[in-house]
Amino acid sequence: MVKTEKLTSTDTIHYTTCPLCSAKDIALTLATEDYSISKEDFEIYACGNCNFHFTQNAPAPMAIAPYYKSDVYISHSDTKEGLVNRLYHTARDLMLKKKRRLIQKLTSGKRLLDIGSGTGYFLNHMQQNGFSVSGVEIDGDARAATLKNFNIKVNPPPTLLDGQLSEKVDVITLWHVLEHLHDMDGYMQSMHRQLSDDGVVLIAVPNHTSYDAQHYGKHWAAYDVPRHLWHFSPKTVARLADKNGFTVVGHKRLPLDPFYNSLLSEQYQSSKLSLIFGGIIGLISLLVSYVNPSRSTSPIYILKKK
Ligand SMILES: [Zn+2]
Repeated sequence: MVKTEKLTSTDTIHYTTCPLCSAKDIALTLATEDYSISKEDFEIYACGNCNFHFTQNAPAPMAIAPYYKSDVYISHSDTKEGLVNRLYHTARDLMLKKKRRLIQKLTSGKRLLDIGSGTGYFLNHMQQNGFSVSGVEIDGDARAATLKNFNIKVNPPPTLLDGQLSEKVDVITLWHVLEHLHDMDGYMQSMHRQLSDDGVVLIAVPNHTSYDAQHYGKHWAAYDVPRHLWHFSPKTVARLADKNGFTVVGHKRLPLDPFYNSLLSEQYQSSKLSLIFGGIIGLISLLVSYVNPSRSTSPIYILKKK
């Protein structure tokens, strides 16, 4: 664990209106904690108009880096320690294939941009399967690792946000990335500019209206405050898409996500039998999502231009 300095008001973003619809009717909905890194308390607010949920007083871009600096933040590490991590790495290879097959069903286009490409496993997998890939990643170490391990050069965010990428792409992917981006609308507009007219965008984000989210409450792992700035539901993703010139045309789910979220949530509530209970809740959540896809723990939203 890395100790973070106590945040001052200049380091945080205090919202007085809804970041999605600008309504003034916002209020506390859930008090939770950064269980994985800083152990600090954070509040999630909800909008009375559009029901968008967001982390209030979240660290500003310049102050958030310490909240990512941990060996336990497995999305950015390659450690094989611990059961949850081992499951995560086995699942990753399976999920790479599932993601590729989903994309190949949606489009025959081969130009792909992955935003928040991390250490480049997905870019590499797609390149090996005939795609012309490009990536955007904020973390310099992750960009360097992608170049070193896979010989793929990835751009820092300003290249995308300032419109410096010239070639249009057929597919844009954000795998558990949008909820981390301070400039949510700036990214959505850049994606609109970069996407070909018949292209598709795939956005995977946690769903706070899922069965496992409602079961675990403040311990739900995918709140992941303050790294997750935004907490989406199918309705608020549709609203964000519409605001930025897109329509949600469908959604899919990855079958392992509810198990991953449930196992981690069990650990956050210090369960002694996290594997058993996490497995049971994960299974219920998966079954609920088959009956009602809008309650999936982490839907993959498929967007097209309006
Ligand atoms: Zn709102």
